[in-house]
Amino acid sequence: MYHDILPKKKVSFDVTVKQFEKHLELIKKNGVTPISLDQLIQHLRTGKPLPAKPIVLTFDDGYIGHYQIVYPLIKKYNYPAVFSVYTDKIEGKIVGRSTLTWEQLQEMAANPLVTIASHSVTHPKNLTKLSDRELQQ
Ligand SMILES: [Zn+2]
Repeated sequence: MYHDILPKKKVSFDVTVKQFEKHLELIKKNGVTPISLDQLIQHLRTGKPLPAKPIVLTFDDGYIGHYQIVYPLIKKYNYPAVFSVYTDKIEGKIVGRSTLTWEQLQEMAANPLVTIASHSVTHPKNLTKLSDRELQQ
């Protein structure tokens, strides 16, 4: 469960490009098999077997590094990945780190390795505190 991947860490859960490339090498070296979210869902629904040492690579919040750094690397390694975005950030309504654009997401979504997942509209801090109506939205 990754968040931002960037040249230099800014907060504890950031991962540097070097660290991320090391993770990808370790995955390869240790026979771990990145699978898609669809493969996992199929497995959970039907029991369809998974490859050895399956792992789902996920990237939350829609940072620009997902397009500039992660996307080229998952293509290089041929690893599926899930990118969970919240639309207020893509729309530019959240001030902060650089964000993916709709065009970049469209390009990524066209690649069969990529799954784009919902991470809500506004990224509420605590979903358990929302009303049913707010959850629906
Ligand atoms: Zn998040």
